[in-house]
Amino acid sequence: MTTAATPHTSTAPAPAEPAPAAVPFRFFDVRVVRTRALGPSMVRVTFGGEALKDFASGGRDQRFKLFLPHPHQDAPVVPVEAGQEWFPVWRAMDPATRAVMRSYTVREQRRDPEEVDVDFALHGADAAGSATAGGPASRWAAHARPGDRAMLLGPVVPDNGGVDFRPPPGTDWVLIAADETALPAVAGILDWLPAGIGAKVWIEVQHAEDLRELPTEADAEIVWLIRDGADPADPRSALLLDGVRDAALPEGTPYAWLAGEAGTVRALRRHLVRDRGFDRKAVTFTGYWRLGATDDQLVEEAVTGTGPASDDD
Ligand SMILES: Cc1cc2nc3c(=O)[nH]c(=O)nc-3n(C[C@H](O)[C@H](O)[C@H](O)COP(=O)(O)OP(=O)(O)OC[C@H]3O[C@@H](n4cnc5c(N)ncnc54)[C@H](O)[C@@H]3O)c2cc1C
Repeated sequence: MTTAATPHTSTAPAPAEPAPAAVPFRFFDVRVVRTRALGPSMVRVTFGGEALKDFASGGRDQRFKLFLPHPHQDAPVVPVEAGQEWFPVWRAMDPATRAVMRSYTVREQRRDPEEVDVDFALHGADAAGSATAGGPASRWAAHARPGDRAMLLGPVVPDNGGVDFRPPPGTDWVLIAADETALPAVAGILDWLPAGIGAKVWIEVQHAEDLRELPTEADAEIVWLIRDGADPADPRSALLLDGVRDAALPEGTPYAWLAGEAGTVRALRRHLVRDRGFDRKAVTFTGYWRLGATDDQLVEEAVTGTGPASDDD
């Protein structure tokens, strides 16, 4: 059984090369195999389960929906039996009962044994003694233990509509700007980029200890921007925007991929299109989260069309 995609909650992405119209996604019942701290503000959760033999990540920024139990539950409550119609059924359920639903990125998929790695930005959920910092998903990740149950709504074919990084033919170089929520996607993209293509990459993270190796065959120049010490709940600094704005960019035809806090991503896109003359169709931009709004609020806005007006320049 494959299922329809949920409303995509983020700032409308503009894939430069159309993704397949069909989004062949399906539910996968999984358990935590192990967890590993990647730095002070990120944790890697490895999911496993026989069901994952049919999971087929397209790499790059492959997104999927993650369903998690509430702290008082053993397993996420997901209306799997509703098939294609699961979303309205899930939405009509009591929010205190239905699974917490969030978007995440496949950092890596492996076979034999079947495993999928997901890297979670904790955004305060790790704060000692805090029961409310972060959000339900980051708190779950901060406390995840082997055997914990979750459900993925993920792809069954590698060429699926959950991959947004699609540079058009003729792209000479790529510009990537992201915060830590999109670091797993950036790692997947760099992993995928072939030799011979240039990449200018800006990544904003919380701590210097969050830096890591990002293997790639591309001719990549990576700039790490560190917020250092700032409360993750504080409004974002202008680090990413300033970093891109102050840079000398290469000649040739660019493709840009931007992801992170929605307001920052929008400002970056505006800068590239208005000030740098990027073709707007060659800029894929996705708000991975929005300051002051939970993902549940973003889903409701996407369904009811009540989100902030988007500028379409
Ligand atoms: C396509 C896509 C792929 C994504 N992939 C990943 C991924 O691989 N790894 C990952 O960590 N995140 C990823 N995200 C972002 C993640 O879904 C959000 O950060 C989500 O809000 C986390 O859920 P939560 O329950 O922890 O917080 P929520 O309950 O949604 O939010 C609680 C509060 O925290 C704030 N908040 C949310 N995220 C952050 C943050 N990063 N920093 C500071 N404040 C924040 C919100 O504004 C809100 O005020 C992705 C998002 C999308 C759309």
